[in-house]
Amino acid sequence: MKLLKSGNNQDNKKLKWVMDMKKMKTCGFCGSMRIKGLYVLSQWMCSECEEKLLQSSSEDPDYEDNVNKVKNAWKSHCLVNKK
Ligand SMILES: [Zn+2]
Repeated sequence: MKLLKSGNNQDNKKLKWVMDMKKMKTCGFCGSMRIKGLYVLSQWMCSECEEKLLQSSSEDPDYEDNVNKVKNAWKSHCLVNKK
């Protein structure tokens, strides 16, 4: 019985891992696979990029880069909607 129980636990762990993998999405901004994030228009943005974007100011060297990425997200969103 004990063996059966530990076997079930392992199955549950495996199942949880598979579930986590299914929840993972590819960030449209940095390209990394993450679970936490949100949709910016039709692009999925991970929580790290969201934080970076929220914390960036116009003096930030990455600011223009981030703005361009959001612009591209808008562009692809518009293209998807036109189809
Ligand atoms: Zn990201």
